[in-house]
Amino acid sequence: MKYISTRGQSPAQSFSYILLGGLAPDGGLYLPESYPQVADRLAAWRKLSYAELAFEILSLYVDDIPAADLKAICDKTYTAQTYRWSRDAAKARDIVPLTSLAPDFHLLELSNGPTLAFKDMAMQLLGNLFEYVLDKRGETINILGATSGDTGSAAEYAMRGKHNVKVFMLSPDGKMSAFQRAQMYSLQDANIFNIAVRGMFDDAQDIVKAVSNDAAFKAKYKIGAVNSINWARVMAQVVYYFKGYFEATQSDGEQVAFCVPSGNFGNICAGHIARMMGLPIARLVLATNENNVLDEFFRTGVYRPRATAETYVTSSPSMDISKASNFERFVFDLVGRDAAVVRELWKQVDSGGAFDLRGSKHFDALAGYRFVSGRSSHADRLATIRDVWATHQLMIDTHTADGVKVAREHREAGVPMIVLETAQAVKFSETIQEALGRDPVRPKELEGIEKLPQKVEVVDAVLEQVKDIVVRHC
Ligand SMILES: *Cc1c(COP(=O)(O)O)cnc(C)c1O
Repeated sequence: MKYISTRGQSPAQSFSYILLGGLAPDGGLYLPESYPQVADRLAAWRKLSYAELAFEILSLYVDDIPAADLKAICDKTYTAQTYRWSRDAAKARDIVPLTSLAPDFHLLELSNGPTLAFKDMAMQLLGNLFEYVLDKRGETINILGATSGDTGSAAEYAMRGKHNVKVFMLSPDGKMSAFQRAQMYSLQDANIFNIAVRGMFDDAQDIVKAVSNDAAFKAKYKIGAVNSINWARVMAQVVYYFKGYFEATQSDGEQVAFCVPSGNFGNICAGHIARMMGLPIARLVLATNENNVLDEFFRTGVYRPRATAETYVTSSPSMDISKASNFERFVFDLVGRDAAVVRELWKQVDSGGAFDLRGSKHFDALAGYRFVSGRSSHADRLATIRDVWATHQLMIDTHTADGVKVAREHREAGVPMIVLETAQAVKFSETIQEALGRDPVRPKELEGIEKLPQKVEVVDAVLEQVKDIVVRHC
């Protein structure tokens, strides 16, 4: 299997080559040159454990890691011990347990990993793949990133203690919740470096961008990233669409719908790929919060990314995205994999503009992909959290609430609806308090983590101060 760029002007590459990189040299995103067709394997896969299923699916996309090694990586990644925070501890061995709210209306628990958000599902695999490939090559990598919460902690928990990997994670000083700070800063691993920047998330992000643009520094200090455009993250996410399908159906003739709380279009892109491989998905339902760029596209055919200043700060913060970094992957398929068309469309996006597919043959093609969408507001989120609590005695987090709200608007008789649960309520206790007047219950092991000693260096939002820290520890 080779990987090609959505912009069509970079050479095709192997999996291990693209694993450690970000964008393709031509500015595009990598995708497999074709999607393996698996409709006739569903019956055999239905019985597999999560780790076995992951191995089967990953094997179709990874041909430069020996099968026995890839198997060992899957087995080590997807254990009941790592994904142990299920509502029902007895279900932890399912890795992604299904919880039913009503007949044919389910939550797929993706947030039972170490940081209680779905990003662990892919990031834990990435940690093990990075370590394996770097060991083989005798190389090292220094991951530099900026986070406002979920991504940074998932990266740190995935990379902690790994050979040949160091993580330098910038976060805005004093802007994250006490729980989020404790999650990250209490890690004492020698290869994890928390850097709190006096400023906002954007200041931290700008520093990361400035380092990435400094080619000499980047090469000398082997700076890498683990952002959401990484192909291996998307690939890892394909697995739980299959697992969720098997848990919600009895036979392989049935269709299901998935509802996905979306920001960067990474999670739902994996659903699109699962469907392209032959998984019987009737509809993919995309849910946004007040930042409704993607909802607007699927309703109208107009993609109009917003400026950062136009992005609302909401109570489902991991979906506060004004430009969906993985969306280009879907559009590449939508336009019949014509890279020249993608280049033309993103010429407009990259210069701050928008594109409008109405009246083109691509707009007609869009209907064939059977996406529907909707948006949710803070008031909707509170109402949904209250309703699910009152009706089912289940606490759901703010992002999942956006999903449940939109999923309810798109139910079809006889088609099970599976809402992806992307985080646990405990991460967003302020909004849970507002909705329910009580605090979410916390897993016992995480009680009092705010009191643990913290390891963090605080710096001004100045490039040189961050570079100094990297240099000192490399
Ligand atoms: C990252 C994240 C999302 C959005 O996922 P995308 O892949 O960016 O669409 C939704 N919910 C939570 C809790 C997240 O952390």
